[in-house]
Amino acid sequence: MFGGKLVVTKAKNYGHDLKAMLDAITEKTTVVFVANPNNPTGTMVSNDELFNFIEKVPEHTLIALDEAYIEFLDNPADTISYVKQGKENLLLMRTFSKIYGLAGLRLGYGIAHKDIVAILEKVRQPFNINLVAQAAGIAALDDLEHIDRTKKNNKEGIKFYEEQLAKLGIEFVPTSANFILVKVGDGQKVFVELQKLGVIVRPMGGYGLPEWVRITIGTPQENKRCIRSLKKVLGLK
Ligand SMILES: *Cc1c(COP(=O)(O)O)cnc(C)c1O
Repeated sequence: MFGGKLVVTKAKNYGHDLKAMLDAITEKTTVVFVANPNNPTGTMVSNDELFNFIEKVPEHTLIALDEAYIEFLDNPADTISYVKQGKENLLLMRTFSKIYGLAGLRLGYGIAHKDIVAILEKVRQPFNINLVAQAAGIAALDDLEHIDRTKKNNKEGIKFYEEQLAKLGIEFVPTSANFILVKVGDGQKVFVELQKLGVIVRPMGGYGLPEWVRITIGTPQENKRCIRSLKKVLGLK
């Protein structure tokens, strides 16, 4: 929209190659985007790699760090400390759409130095977050039981999928998020066929991964149904 030049670096093992991204930054680079954990691959970088990256990105480049899935992690990188210590080129972005299950309320937040926030305020529409969403968001932050339950369900679901897929000899990318990327051959076709069985997954052609689908971790019952349906669609016993 603003005529910026997009520079894309190659992924490494389906995840971010932070070294390649660092190398691609020049004096002209204004923003660098990192999603950690990443969507749609579920990959994440180690905390040390992330800290190293945050410290090495030059000050004229804003690090837009998408942490939509951070609440699913057992040992998330303490990125807020950098902001607290006054780091001026780091914008942490979080959402109530994922672990909190409030996607329909359209609520998220950013954490950054006050000068960055002031810039964003200039273009933010007035009243873009409504009162009901704010009330729900505040209540959700305190609902630790929900977060624990969802995290536990997610962990057990990932274990189930990884075991079942390994048993079936189906390739997948180990995940740190609440979905798993699975190699099924013709992703678009599997997507269509699964829908006929009442199961919706996401084909990945749009991400340059036409052989893959992304499956969201569900309840144990949903996960079993998905694997059963996948076996049927792929003609596996
Ligand atoms: C879901 C998601 C978001 C946030 O979605 P909203 O519903 O718009 O808050 C941001 N980044 C990634 C990588 C996501 O998967």
